[in-house]
Amino acid sequence: MNASPSSPDAATSELSIGGTLIWYSSICLRQLWLMAHQINPDEDDPNLEYGRFLHETAYLREKRGFEVNGNRFDVVSFRNGTLVVAEIKKSSRALESTRLQLGHYLMVLEEQGINAIGELRFPEERRKQEVRLTDDLRRAVLRQRQIVREVSGLPTPPPPKRLRWCSKCAYAEMCWA
Ligand code: SF4
Repeated sequence: MNASPSSPDAATSELSIGGTLIWYSSICLRQLWLMAHQINPDEDDPNLEYGRFLHETAYLREKRGFEVNGNRFDVVSFRNGTLVVAEIKKSSRALESTRLQLGHYLMVLEEQGINAIGELRFPEERRKQEVRLTDDLRRAVLRQRQIVREVSGLPTPPPPKRLRWCSKCAYAEMCWA
């Protein structure tokens, strides 16, 4: 477990909402708080290692690592003159969370005057899904941004709660040991 020396107040005041926090905000609020305060899980966790491997080896022929305002997009390309931003995940188990993360990226681009299309990619399942920024998705992303702000601003992390994500969570040892 790696903890940064920054205080919770500092972490909160400096917080810029990245897509990963949007993702955690719909998975586990405790995980969201820990990530927002840069209390990082064990880097050797097998699930994290595999996730990194997948990001490094999938879709190598496309442009990768594009970043806007601290939001790092997995893959970007152009289709018929429109920017396509793709998010790679190892499984579609958390489909709605991934959709919110990608919706947040599309809004970040829209806030910069760039209209883009999103694409969810699950290489192991050989599956892709297009995501368009609709009013419903915009509203859902704004709700999650608010949750990120509120939970990150708490002085201590929310207590652990048994969730279906716990068994594969890199924080499991910290929550349940
Ligand atoms: S182990 Fe469970 S409660 Fe703890 S951070 Fe992970 S998902 Fe949340």
